[in-house]
Amino acid sequence: MKINIIGGGPAGMYFAILMKKADPAHEITVYERNGPDDTFGWGVVFSGKTLANLRAADELSHAEITQAFAAWDNVDVIHGQQKISIHGNSFSGIARLQLLKILQRRCEQLGVHILFRTEVPDAEALRTGCDLLVAAYGVNSSARKQYSQHFQPTLDVRPNRYLWYGTNRLFHGLTLSFRENEAGVFAAHSYKFNQTTSTFIIECDQATWNAAGFSAMSDDSTREYLERVFARDLEGQPLLSNNSKWINFLLVKNEQWFFANVVLIGDALHTAHFSIGSGTKLALEDAIALFDCVERRDTVGAALKEFELTRKPVIEEYQAAAYESMLWFENARDYMELSPIELAYELMTRSGKVDYEDLKRRDPEFIARYEDQKAVGRKQ
Ligand SMILES: Cc1cc2nc3c(=O)[nH]c(=O)nc-3n(C[C@H](O)[C@H](O)[C@H](O)COP(=O)(O)OP(=O)(O)OC[C@H]3O[C@@H](n4cnc5c(N)ncnc54)[C@H](O)[C@@H]3O)c2cc1C
Repeated sequence: MKINIIGGGPAGMYFAILMKKADPAHEITVYERNGPDDTFGWGVVFSGKTLANLRAADELSHAEITQAFAAWDNVDVIHGQQKISIHGNSFSGIARLQLLKILQRRCEQLGVHILFRTEVPDAEALRTGCDLLVAAYGVNSSARKQYSQHFQPTLDVRPNRYLWYGTNRLFHGLTLSFRENEAGVFAAHSYKFNQTTSTFIIECDQATWNAAGFSAMSDDSTREYLERVFARDLEGQPLLSNNSKWINFLLVKNEQWFFANVVLIGDALHTAHFSIGSGTKLALEDAIALFDCVERRDTVGAALKEFELTRKPVIEEYQAAAYESMLWFENARDYMELSPIELAYELMTRSGKVDYEDLKRRDPEFIARYEDQKAVGRKQ
């Protein structure tokens, strides 16, 4: 089979690896506009369940990925002077660049042809020359627009602003810090992803963003302002920018996932708010799901139909949970009156995927403290 893949991100490369591993006779080309060492982004996170899926799909890359991991089991919520830790949440982090390098090496080993620094302006030219064209070129994939009458995308630009920074302050566990100043409320999502660096994503609502005057601030002044907001959390470490800019989260959905021999996967197909940390996980699991369908079915058409049919309900469930989580952060200022322990409880249950009983199982001590706090509240 001749397969063209646009985008050498996690989705595109992982699909290439699985296909080529299954049948070395497949002719697979990945078109990637960046160079092999371009650094974009900081760390990405995976849950224990994702890792089991990666192990089953390709043991070699799984072994390399897990070797490079920083693992933790706690979520820390910081509000004012207090830190609340909730245990029993197994997650691991890896630098996005390191993940990409592992996948690139695996592609090379297997004989996948990666064309770096090759921008694809027109998907149609590639579509006609292959059996299967996989559009895996991320959240801004132009194939969605080019074939919009087929895919029928909906793009929802969300109101909060956020940016990705790194820092050498190490956050052992997923740490959610809330800080208030005269402009409003800021939330930081941070986690260590190797021995020296943590991801540090900052988000705020539009009113806070306007009041802080970010529209007229340079990148350096923005970073310095935010270092002051999170001074307690950063403990003197600077924020590290990687051309970090304020953006609005784009919620992507597509009514149809394929047409003829073209299919969307990863961020091109769907996005889930970063607060549930599953963009890369979903991209890799899309690749696994698509591979399984291609293996099971005799024709590309039947495989793509099955991919949409079986994977869509899974993605819809994730997007629904991520939506609730995103709304929570969009309305974070409404929760600032809560005590730290109540805030932590609200946060842990925000997406509807984790409830009281789950938390009691994972961390009975946390639930006991939460109950004590509620009892105090009732007496007052
Ligand atoms: C710049 C960036 C930084 C990120 N940082 C983080 C992070 O630190 N932590 C985290 O958890 N998540 C991060 N994410 C989100 C997360 O990585 C995504 O959810 C996940 O990578 C989706 O995988 P994907 O393969 O679908 O798309 P992507 O990872 O976006 O990969 C798409 C690839 O397509 C390439 N491409 C785009 N257009 C073209 C074109 N016209 N021709 C050829 N190639 C093209 C891009 O260069 C990119 O390599 C980041 C995403 C991006 C784009």
